[in-house]
Amino acid sequence: MKFQTHEVMNQAPELEDYNSFLRDQALQDALQREGASWARADVERFGAVTGSAASIALGYQANAHKPQLHTHDRFGHRVDKVEFHPAYHQLMQTAIAEGLHASPWQQSQLGAHVARAAKYYLHTQVEAAHGCPITMTFAVVPALKQQSNVAAEWLPRVLTNEYDPRDIPANQKRGITFGMGMTEKQGGSDVRANTTIAKAIGSAGSGELYELVGHKWFLSAPMCDAFLMLAQTNVGLSCFLVPRWRPDGTKNPLELVRLKDKMGNVANASSEVELRGAQGWLIGAEGKGVRTIIEMVAMTRFDCMIGSAAGMRQAVVQAVHHCQHRRAFGRTLVEQPLMSNVLADLALESEAALTLTMRMARAMDHQEQTHEQLLARLAVAIGKYWICKRTPQHAYEAMECLGGNGVMENCIMPRLYREAPINAIWEGSGNIQCLDVLRAIEKQPETLEAYFAEVARAEGANSGLDTSIKQLKNWFSQRYEVEERQGQARRIVDQLAVTLQGALLQQHAPNAIADAFCVSRLGTDWGLNYGTLPIGINRQAIIDRCFSTG
Ligand SMILES: Cc1cc2nc3c(=O)[nH]c(=O)nc-3n(C[C@H](O)[C@H](O)[C@H](O)COP(=O)(O)OP(=O)(O)OC[C@H]3O[C@@H](n4cnc5c(N)ncnc54)[C@H](O)[C@@H]3O)c2cc1C
Repeated sequence: MKFQTHEVMNQAPELEDYNSFLRDQALQDALQREGASWARADVERFGAVTGSAASIALGYQANAHKPQLHTHDRFGHRVDKVEFHPAYHQLMQTAIAEGLHASPWQQSQLGAHVARAAKYYLHTQVEAAHGCPITMTFAVVPALKQQSNVAAEWLPRVLTNEYDPRDIPANQKRGITFGMGMTEKQGGSDVRANTTIAKAIGSAGSGELYELVGHKWFLSAPMCDAFLMLAQTNVGLSCFLVPRWRPDGTKNPLELVRLKDKMGNVANASSEVELRGAQGWLIGAEGKGVRTIIEMVAMTRFDCMIGSAAGMRQAVVQAVHHCQHRRAFGRTLVEQPLMSNVLADLALESEAALTLTMRMARAMDHQEQTHEQLLARLAVAIGKYWICKRTPQHAYEAMECLGGNGVMENCIMPRLYREAPINAIWEGSGNIQCLDVLRAIEKQPETLEAYFAEVARAEGANSGLDTSIKQLKNWFSQRYEVEERQGQARRIVDQLAVTLQGALLQQHAPNAIADAFCVSRLGTDWGLNYGTLPIGINRQAIIDRCFSTG
């Protein structure tokens, strides 16, 4: 005899088969405002894809089955292959078919960066880790263009929308992907400590072929077709394009030692590699490797902003959805005053991250304008630091909104939480970003002028914002010793970030959002945790804008 033990009730339904663009009012507004209204139909179509149960399932599958390294085949030949679950390939296929790896370089239409950022933001919410090779392929283009003979050979296959994962020489493929190798054991942030050596095979100089001997301690997405790598020549640190296969069709000796056992980002393989005479072409001037590869790094930093803003978005959406359906103590959680404070606070952080990111996308689209160029130089470093740094705590608080269910591996929250710190660490860790902000201002004081011109557009809209702008101007008018300045870099970049976000929201967001953000983040009326917005904030309006019941 079987007994009914209980009825399952008061659980939120699965959040799937919804349009993740149409449920995101801030994203719709940003697409229009920042210059890509022409892309609306396409992004709306893609929002249905990224909200579909089928896409969401791919994210789970790709992470449940970690990539496997095969150093040798069964006969003992070196193969250096990484095997991925089909779901990973499907995510890569979609990302490349949608142009997330290259669309702004394929079309000259103004707003192309904004349109791509919107789509990337949606896709990263499904699964973040496969974004690593997508971003690196996108980011390589400006650096590669510095070496015209090499670019002529390699760029056309970057600029196709075909994902071709076959492990064969790049010149036989329909589409290719790129990675990046800078970090070595003895030096990550300080790449000048690199010990990998490069020697010219014939003549030395830009575009010529060299042989590299050394190692890389981190080389993500090692199945990429080629990598930009730093190595020392007798002139100094230089940048090389190192392919997986040599032009003669033999394997380039990039020997994978092992895959990193990472806490997050597990669907993406990150490897350690030894270069035993690997061939590569010199990109840019010899001895100017950092100057060359920084073009790539600048773009990856921008994508870290998109990725972390997307992580926050997915976290707050899950939290709001759960709280809209779950009842406790006589009403839904979203109706409980304290929970509405937590959700509204998380929503503010998420919208501020998106707004700054999309503003930077617009700046990317208008690099011919001096203001946009100077602003991007400073504000991408500020935004990369700040948005990535804010994400882990945000992910944790969103997880807590789901209670015990939020901790379970069959829910996306643990994945969002484990992914959250990574963007902050790679592509310039927090301190490095803050020091970069100071360096940019020192080398090019016009970047700071561009920053103040940008925030001045919102002057007078909020007293906390006005005070913060004054404090920043005052700080920069002082002459501090280098040690003092560096020691204070986080404090000052925190303030630069929040002030810029506040100024952008004051210009573009509804009053309920902009004022709540400025009162809490720029006034003194905020606690130490999320969920401490002061009295007088329209919390329901903030939550409704974030994710209405649809
Ligand atoms: C998942 C993952 C994938 C990665 N993939 C790649 C890849 O594909 N290619 C690649 O090249 N690298 C890759 N990296 C490496 C990554 O870019 C480095 O870990 C990062 O640049 C930091 O370098 P490091 O680990 O050597 O730490 P360090 O440089 O030793 O830094 C340690 C800490 O010290 C701080 N610090 C350093 N200098 C200063 C200073 N002057 N003042 C104050 N603080 C300072 C840093 O901010 C950091 O917090 C990857 C890393 C991870 C986690």
